[in-house]
Amino acid sequence: MALKRITFEKTGKPKTVTSRQNFKTNNMANFYCKCCGSKNSSIAGLTSSSCSKNPEGKHHALYEGSEKSQYVCKYCGSKNSTITGLTSSSCSKNPNGKHHSPAM
Ligand SMILES: [Zn+2]
Ligand SMILES: [Zn+2]
Repeated sequence: MALKRITFEKTGKPKTVTSRQNFKTNNMANFYCKCCGSKNSSIAGLTSSSCSKNPEGKHHALYEGSEKSQYVCKYCGSKNSTITGLTSSSCSKNPNGKHHSPAM
């Protein structure tokens, strides 16, 4: 017996490809501007584009909250299903700008 034949079995257990679906929207895929609701797939892309509604600067400002089914204005409590919808309405209580601003 000069030759030792060793058979390597595949030790890897079968991976479930579908397990990725469990992550769903926990992994935030999109970034939004808190001033106008513009959507971008990267923060860099978002903040390098100009924003017409940002009272503090020329570019979109990142909305740092999570994606929600409903967004609430942090100054007056108005609700909207999108940031775009919320920020396109004027707010009488926002000290920094004319429009509603989403709470985090
Ligand atoms: Zn914007
Ligand atoms: Zn408001």
